[in-house]
Amino acid sequence: MPQIKFYNRPAVPMEMHKVKIVQKLNLLPARQRLEKMKEAGFNTFLLHNGDIFMDMLTDSGVNAMSDNMQSAMLRADDAYAGSETFYRMRDKLEEIFGIGNLLPTHQGRACEHIIAQHFVKPGNCIIMNYHFTTSKAHVTRLGGHVEELIIDEGLVTKSDYPFKGNIDLEKVKACIAKEGAENIAYMRLEAGTNLIGGQPISYENMKAATDLARQHGILTVLDASLLQDNLHFIKTREESMKDKTIREITRMIADLYDIVYFSARKFGFGRGGGILVRDEKLFHDMEDYIPMFEGFLTYGGMSVKEMEALIIGFDETMDEDIISQGPIFINHCVTELDGMGVPMITPGGGLGAHIDARQVMEHLPQEQYPAGALVAALYLCGGIRGMERGTLSEERNPDGSEHFASVEMVRLAFPRRVFTLSQTEYVIDRVKWLYDHRHMIGGLRFVHEPKTLRFFTGKLEPVSDWPEKLLEAYIADFGEDQ
Ligand SMILES: *Cc1c(COP(=O)(O)O)cnc(C)c1O
Repeated sequence: MPQIKFYNRPAVPMEMHKVKIVQKLNLLPARQRLEKMKEAGFNTFLLHNGDIFMDMLTDSGVNAMSDNMQSAMLRADDAYAGSETFYRMRDKLEEIFGIGNLLPTHQGRACEHIIAQHFVKPGNCIIMNYHFTTSKAHVTRLGGHVEELIIDEGLVTKSDYPFKGNIDLEKVKACIAKEGAENIAYMRLEAGTNLIGGQPISYENMKAATDLARQHGILTVLDASLLQDNLHFIKTREESMKDKTIREITRMIADLYDIVYFSARKFGFGRGGGILVRDEKLFHDMEDYIPMFEGFLTYGGMSVKEMEALIIGFDETMDEDIISQGPIFINHCVTELDGMGVPMITPGGGLGAHIDARQVMEHLPQEQYPAGALVAALYLCGGIRGMERGTLSEERNPDGSEHFASVEMVRLAFPRRVFTLSQTEYVIDRVKWLYDHRHMIGGLRFVHEPKTLRFFTGKLEPVSDWPEKLLEAYIADFGEDQ
């Protein structure tokens, strides 16, 4: 059911669940937020959750479980080896994806570690529609390089293109010709392309791209971490798929790939991960890594209770009522803000609403991290924690110069089944306020800059006293207790 209809008022997004357990939220007074932001080195990853009102950092490991998932935890079969829970999980994944060779891992990047470890040799090329931070870091760590062959529309921030996550088939052909098929370790397609705003890839495009790969003997890998939103978009935006069930679509997609991996911190509403390997021999060759890096082959670093919950979570991911929730709320947030003139990444995707920070912060050069500054300002002005997805999230070039991101975004993640409509309205209101005061937001510079994945633990400082001035303007409008 895509949207509940209303009788005498405009329809609004509707939560298709009711609340059973709650967690109290805390809105710190405005000036205290500035103290907390300073302690966190103007890096939202370093804030403490108790100091945050709306935590929209990520959708990873923070999605709400259902009553059925929680009650399933009680029947978890705690065993180091041979847990019945593992076999139930394997069977459920085989039922959904048609592949029963499961390598369990503790989370999504662990899958990427193992896949890269097994296939990437120095000088290898890995074809992707677009990179994800950890999937790229694992490849470059081993001396490989990533070719991102996203269609040009994918990087157009304001657009109505339905499948901005598609890979450009002509660019794929040119890349294979240039690199040579034997030098390409694999083609990795990412569903719900994260770093360009949770944008989907169509079934038709996946089919064409994997056909090309197969013709050249190139291994095909699906990152299914954000598949749940992508399934909703295929069902609602891809004409030829509208009469298929979510289960049928999932199976058609899986059939295209040699390997399917996922972060169960997103896919399945729990915490964990897994790699499904079609080829029996390849599966056994890759098994060795699991006891070495993750845990024994029947839990792979996951809690058995979480695994039991995931089995239910995977089934819920096949339910249209459940998977449409995120995209409908995100679309509401994006459409409202876009209508107020705030530059947003459009059309709304999965995972979260994304602000086009390059446009909002036109007055700042990319060296001063416009998206980083905007996301810090949003915490000061509203207690909302988003995530920088721009130049700060990139790594420097080998010569030490900045690698400027092709898109500067602030992501406001919508953890699945977590926030209500009134909370969404609050976020829309504060983003609009901040947009109207955007010229007061100044830049940031590093005071501590780690070499890899610097956005996680790096510390920054403002280049002037702009946070103090911005906060005084905020207090003048809302009072110091908010
Ligand atoms: C989150 C994510 C990952 C990594 O998963 P973790 O469980 O956070 O390690 C990989 N790929 C994509 C597309 C993701 O969104």
